[in-house]
Amino acid sequence: MEGVTSEAPGGEPIAAVTVNARTCIGCGRCVGTVPEVFRMRKGKSQVREGPDLAQADAILQAERQCPSKSIRTSKTP
Ligand code: SF4
Repeated sequence: MEGVTSEAPGGEPIAAVTVNARTCIGCGRCVGTVPEVFRMRKGKSQVREGPDLAQADAILQAERQCPSKSIRTSKTP
């Protein structure tokens, strides 16, 4: 069995992910895409503590799909 890695099949590791609570419109799409990383709190998305950055593909998908562009990922620490 392969070990857990933060590197996506496409080779894009993620070092950090954030949600801008000011611009988030609370649609819940990111939570539906990666519930291991995002959760809803008071009508806004929030990154869980110790997010599972091994979900790189799904996190990048959530970033792309966020209608208010509130999700940001960085690829370097
Ligand atoms: S997809 Fe974007 S706007 Fe929708 S809940 Fe997530 S961060 Fe907020």
